[in-house]
Amino acid sequence: MDDCVFCKIIKGEIPAKFVYQDEDMVVFPDIKQQAQTHLLVVPKKHFLDLNDTPDEIILKIKNKILELSKGMGDYRVVINGAAAQEVKHLHVHLLGGVL
Ligand code: AMP
Repeated sequence: MDDCVFCKIIKGEIPAKFVYQDEDMVVFPDIKQQAQTHLLVVPKKHFLDLNDTPDEIILKIKNKILELSKGMGDYRVVINGAAAQEVKHLHVHLLGGVL
């Protein structure tokens, strides 16, 4: 998607510091940090939202989030949808530490 900010990050056209990446997803800090740790877990392929994303990808994201959340203490996982979703490329917020 040409006008998608997360597709541009994945293609390296917009800078982001990847803390993890594999063939399916990237993980990088949210630019507007809302907790001690605030990561976005984003599939490399453009899916609009939770409804649009295959179960296989959701499962991989879930497992990565469980791994990343270890050692964070308290954590919160957020997926915004509909009008609450600003960036129309599925992403999962992982907020950890002091919430
Ligand atoms: P939402 O779609 O409502 O779940 O929120 C999108 C999130 O993406 C917001 O928390 C933004 O701060 C974040 N965001 C937007 N552009 C960037 C960027 N270039 N790098 C990192 N995070 C971003």
